[in-house]
Amino acid sequence: MDVRKDFPILAGNDLAFLDSAASSQKPEMVIEAMDTMLRSGYANVHRGAYRLSAEATDAYEAARAKVARFIGATSPAEVIFTRGTTTSMNMLAAKWGADRLVAGDNVVLSVMEHHANLVPWQFLKGIELRFARLTDDFALDLESVAELVDERTRIVSITGMSNVLGTITPVDRIREIAGRVGATVIVDGAQLVPHLPVDVTDLGADFLAFSAHKMLGPTGIGVLWGRPALLEEMEPFEGGGEMIDEVGLYESTWAPVPHKFEAGTPPIVEAIGLGAAVDYLTGLGMDAVRKHDVELTGYALERLATMPAVTVYGPTDLEIRGGAISFTLGDVHPHDLSTILDENGVAVRAGHHCARPLMDHLGIPATARASFSVYSSGDEVDRLVDGLKVAAKLFDIRQ
Ligand code: PLP
Repeated sequence: MDVRKDFPILAGNDLAFLDSAASSQKPEMVIEAMDTMLRSGYANVHRGAYRLSAEATDAYEAARAKVARFIGATSPAEVIFTRGTTTSMNMLAAKWGADRLVAGDNVVLSVMEHHANLVPWQFLKGIELRFARLTDDFALDLESVAELVDERTRIVSITGMSNVLGTITPVDRIREIAGRVGATVIVDGAQLVPHLPVDVTDLGADFLAFSAHKMLGPTGIGVLWGRPALLEEMEPFEGGGEMIDEVGLYESTWAPVPHKFEAGTPPIVEAIGLGAAVDYLTGLGMDAVRKHDVELTGYALERLATMPAVTVYGPTDLEIRGGAISFTLGDVHPHDLSTILDENGVAVRAGHHCARPLMDHLGIPATARASFSVYSSGDEVDRLVDGLKVAAKLFDIRQ
């Protein structure tokens, strides 16, 4: 993919940026759309009767419609703007979970969940959390899901793609299992939506959460998509301006979906930026984005396999993995490794990647992680491997 020129931060910068799973860089198109909005289109939305506000509202709602089309939603009203995946998951745990589940019910998660799809569920009192295992090749073990789901399972909430292992989960199969007991399927799409074509009409999810900043858009905005009937049924998460219909001193009624979930002034400029990011990705084509990811991941795995001291944690099968590659080098602590890589012009993430229970499950304290986006290149992978060789030499690890 020849797109590096579209990303100002990458032009003239010789850093190999391999931390896109944490947050991606932004193309000129996104920067420009936000800049233009701030310079000439900005006003609060859904409030003013004056023209500038009406135009800002149109632009904000147009961004919602773009996101809806991008994920195949049947109506823009199914797209709720939130602060990000974390807020979307907290909203679901509180309003679809705590509000509706009773003691003795259970929620099925997996051992590879990001803390955003774990800690909010821990807030639920009296609800049992169950954790699906992984196969030997780091895929989601569907047999384990099937064993855990029973008549008291109300929710199955699982990542669409692990930010640590790269594992892509078979949401349709999860749906099949959850459907037997009428459980709701929630997909943490923070890594899935930026990297694979997603169509909510056949994904198999009831709710899907994702963040703009991981898909070339700005920070401060994300999405909660939900099936219309469920969004109607779910109570608001926050109260305040914008989300109401009638307000009295003691009681209020709610605005229609999606507005009942968007209390207060929303992230207006960020929504415009997300709309531009969606336009950019649509222009590339999500099939092409996925193809690029598969090729680059395949190449990276091949190159890393030439270093016997490197252990990769994640599926070997490219069909079920994306471009987040966690690894260790001998017994070098990943933090030391990332410092050495940084000194060699390579930026990777090191740590538990907000998935501490997964680290325990793998029996390691941390990993280093290289992760890709549309602008990532084979040359950057080569530089990663060169940097690892430098580190191996420094720590006297035989190659
Ligand atoms: N879920 C996964 C799989 C992630 O990778 C992340 C971020 O790293 C999140 C959830 C949380 O996203 P955010 O920090 O944008 O709310």
